Amino acid sequence: DLTKGVVLYLDGITVSFDGFRALNNLTLTVDAGELRCIIGPNGAGKTTMMDVITGKTRPDSGTAFFGQTIDLTRLAENQIAHAGIGRKFQKPTIFAHHTVFENLELSMKADKRVRKTLFAKLSSAERDRIAMTLAQIRLTDSADRQAGLLSHGQKQWLEIGMLLMQEPKLLLLDEPVAGMSDDETERTAELFLSLAGTHSLVVVEHDMKFVETIAKKVTVLHEGSVLAEGSLADVQNDPRVIEVYLGR
Ligand code: ADP
Repeated sequence: DLTKGVVLYLDGITVSFDGFRALNNLTLTVDAGELRCIIGPNGAGKTTMMDVITGKTRPDSGTAFFGQTIDLTRLAENQIAHAGIGRKFQKPTIFAHHTVFENLELSMKADKRVRKTLFAKLSSAERDRIAMTLAQIRLTDSADRQAGLLSHGQKQWLEIGMLLMQEPKLLLLDEPVAGMSDDETERTAELFLSLAGTHSLVVVEHDMKFVETIAKKVTVLHEGSVLAEGSLADVQNDPRVIEVYLGR
């Protein structure tokens, strides 16, 4: 059950590139329904951590569990996606020449578990699901617009909607508000807060104002392991964290 207890458990993960330890005995737990922010200076290992979770990078040692039973270090990337982990990169991968609605439709049909051809007619339940997702990502009024014509923020929301169509339990988001206006950033915070609870979210983010709005718990990575963890105020007042950020 991925909606209760611990959703993600990284235990002693080490990843080396030519002898350099990008992750060094990283241990981290995320509870189901949590909205966790990961911060840390450049080179801290944030991207490598996401790559280990999605199976893009194999750790040299350590284990990574999704829920109680799914050992991520033994699964291929597509198996991990099907197990319920969705990742959003910074650059959206929407279909620019299709409408917003079609993007969500294609994403739903691309889900192997659904096994529908692209030309199959949508059932009313499927239409309802798309309508619900459109409302969630605030694009109901833009359903028939070409995705390529959306604003930067709207494109990011559409991509999150496309992930949601695949019904992930855990969402990994890499700098989701980079380049967004203040208004878009605020709406993204609302979206994430509405997703938390039914979903677990791990968000890598540099925008501290955004982190402050969304996260109860923040993990600071440094040199491939956890330097500090707690509320944003707690970690910002931690002398080790201050030293790492000021010493850059
Ligand atoms: P962050 O996302 O926190 O900026 P990364 O996970 O991208 O950190 O990188 C951690 C360290 O590992 C960096 O010093 C980076 O140069 C190094 N690194 C990441 N990926 C590779 C790779 N494929 N080959 C060699 N070094 C890498």
